[in-house]
Amino acid sequence: MSASRATVLDIFRSLDRSNCGACGAPTCLAFAALVVQGRKKLAHCPRLGAEAGERFASLPDERREVEQRLAEARLYLKEKISAIDFGASPERLQARLVDDKLAIKCLGRDFMLDRQGEMTSELHANFWVYVPLLNYVLHCRGRELTGEWVKFDQLRDAMSRSDFFSMRCENELRRLADEHGELFFDVLSLFGRDAGELGFAADRTVLLHPLPRVPFLLSYARAEGAFASHLSLYFDRATDDNLDIESVFVLGMGLVEMFKRIVARHA
Ligand code: SF4
Repeated sequence: MSASRATVLDIFRSLDRSNCGACGAPTCLAFAALVVQGRKKLAHCPRLGAEAGERFASLPDERREVEQRLAEARLYLKEKISAIDFGASPERLQARLVDDKLAIKCLGRDFMLDRQGEMTSELHANFWVYVPLLNYVLHCRGRELTGEWVKFDQLRDAMSRSDFFSMRCENELRRLADEHGELFFDVLSLFGRDAGELGFAADRTVLLHPLPRVPFLLSYARAEGAFASHLSLYFDRATDDNLDIESVFVLGMGLVEMFKRIVARHA
């Protein structure tokens, strides 16, 4: 494998995976992610051999690589949109047909999709939304929400990604909540609503709708005494019939990116 294409997994495989904590990260997987994000150096792991250090000497910007992959996927998916019957899609997608475009609510804002797969929005959309949204239009089965909430790893085909999901989405959101408290929840309230009535044992429960039939439920418990803070994301049981698991993952990453940016602007 060329060093220029090293990913979190590539680096993780080179570690001794003892989770000894000497690098300051809670686990080897967390350490690998921090290295790719440029927040840790490989040299911080005392157990890593010189050979691996040389191998990953020039780490790529993981974010840029993901963006490039998403841009390619977007081009591919756009071409397929013309085959969709827009007239028959609003109910399946919980969308509206407006001026021959599909209007789909994403975090409460309209995203307008035309028959060429071009999208416009009143929300300054980060590009992470586009690919999940195109996949939603193409593959959503229109299954009604069940009201049963499950963790990411209980969704179909999610097991192999669940560690990454909790590291890149839940842990990042927990860090934002720990560090910015009310500011973070004020930002969330711009895009979702308090869902305390659902009875989760948490200090804050927020319901977000990144896509109409794909809600995310965020529950956060503050640190208390010997107990660390905790943040979990939950999904409706019907999620995997309405969106592929890769797109759910990308949506989670997109939310993290967006909230990080907004919080940083207002902090
Ligand atoms: S020091 Fe190395 S082996 Fe120990 S947790 Fe960190 S990355 Fe893993």
